[in-house]
Amino acid sequence: MRIKPTSRNVLLWGVLLAIGFACTNTTTQEETKQKPNIILIFADDMGYGDVGVFGHPTIKTPNLDRLAYEGQKWTNFYVAAPVCTPSRAGLMTGRLPIRSGMCSDQHRVLFPDSKGGLPENEITIASALKKADYSTAMIGKWHLGHLSSFDPNAHGFDYYFGIPYSNDMDQTLPEGVGYYEACANPKVSYFNVPLKRNRETIEQPADQNTITKRYTEEAVNYIAAHKDQPFFLYMAHSMPHVPLFPSAEFKGKSLRGIYGDVIEEIDWSVGQVIDALKENGLDDNTLVVFTSDNGPWLIFNENGGSAGLLRGGKGGTYEGGMREPTVFWGPGMVAPGVVTELGTTMDLLPTFCKLAGAELPDDRVYDGYDISSVISEKGKSPRNEVFYYRGQQVYAVRKGAFKAHFITQPAYGSEGPTTNETPELYNLNVDPSEKYNIAEQHPDVIEELRELMEEHNATVVPVENQLEKR
Ligand code: MG
Repeated sequence: MRIKPTSRNVLLWGVLLAIGFACTNTTTQEETKQKPNIILIFADDMGYGDVGVFGHPTIKTPNLDRLAYEGQKWTNFYVAAPVCTPSRAGLMTGRLPIRSGMCSDQHRVLFPDSKGGLPENEITIASALKKADYSTAMIGKWHLGHLSSFDPNAHGFDYYFGIPYSNDMDQTLPEGVGYYEACANPKVSYFNVPLKRNRETIEQPADQNTITKRYTEEAVNYIAAHKDQPFFLYMAHSMPHVPLFPSAEFKGKSLRGIYGDVIEEIDWSVGQVIDALKENGLDDNTLVVFTSDNGPWLIFNENGGSAGLLRGGKGGTYEGGMREPTVFWGPGMVAPGVVTELGTTMDLLPTFCKLAGAELPDDRVYDGYDISSVISEKGKSPRNEVFYYRGQQVYAVRKGAFKAHFITQPAYGSEGPTTNETPELYNLNVDPSEKYNIAEQHPDVIEELRELMEEHNATVVPVENQLEKR
């Protein structure tokens, strides 16, 4: 039946069109409004036990504690590697660093004389979100290649303010002062690390006494300047990696000594970022994630952090090296509670892309999972396994509650790796401290984990090693 253009029909279509237009318009507005801002705050070498809400008895972290109570405290959240560079490569790309050539058995991280970096063809969180019309900024320590072809501006960040590698590099030590002495009693002049704004060096050595404060000012200004468009802000503090430089306001304030001073300043910084979100009316549409790149650097004794009840620390593949104190916060976006599901920093890329409506090409292997449903509904995590890499090799595998150590090695020192004829096996739900080896009772579990490791190893395609380029 043909509908004749009667005045009644014209009126009806007019009404329908108007409703349709109103709906489309509303949808567009909602879509625009619904694209959340994302802030990722990343500490360096902060241990699982260094936050109040994760159990530290004397370090005061009221801001992180509040975010954990209002949002989610994750107790089984991991990084891709137990040291800086490969951990950050995994975070940025959603892929294990072995896939991008960003880990090595020869050099554990990038150094100021390195010629390599995160390859151009890798997709970072920033480059993916930029395609979804996000403004992107990085503030802090990068450590994925300081040459211009690998720096933050080359990898999707519109704006960069920070240091290109660790705060203990570019050492210019006076006669008679060794590295450990310099880290124990640091002076700014000992570490000739440049501070950069985009590609310009604006200060060298970076004045580390004020660096946390200046990172914070940059973040607060960035939030205010970008309140009208979706943004991704990656804020990677250069501490508590040694040398420790709390600012004058925090020095000597913590019961935990200078290490506690530094953590309490980082916690203050987190509070400033949240205040800035509230002042700009963005707190109901911003996801904030806090975690650390690897565990505490225990060889620095009191100047290193604590993994709490976890065994080991930075550099090693026991839990303390790779399980991090992690908080997700976003009122209305994050279902509050303690999450014991498995997650890793590699899951952030697919998760952020899901939240931002950003597409990822399917031309590569991703090791991350979209964990957005765990964040929004406390659903089950799609992740059920963790591979613990040291350099280019898998040392341990976790599936569910069980973790097998196929290779073990002290985190630091000259002792080489030991391939365990019978791997150590722990039930991490029952024994998070990895104290009670239950290998003899569960040979079947070890075999299952070994098969998982072999299946994983078969997916690894050799690529050019970036950490060995000099
Ligand atoms: Mg680190």
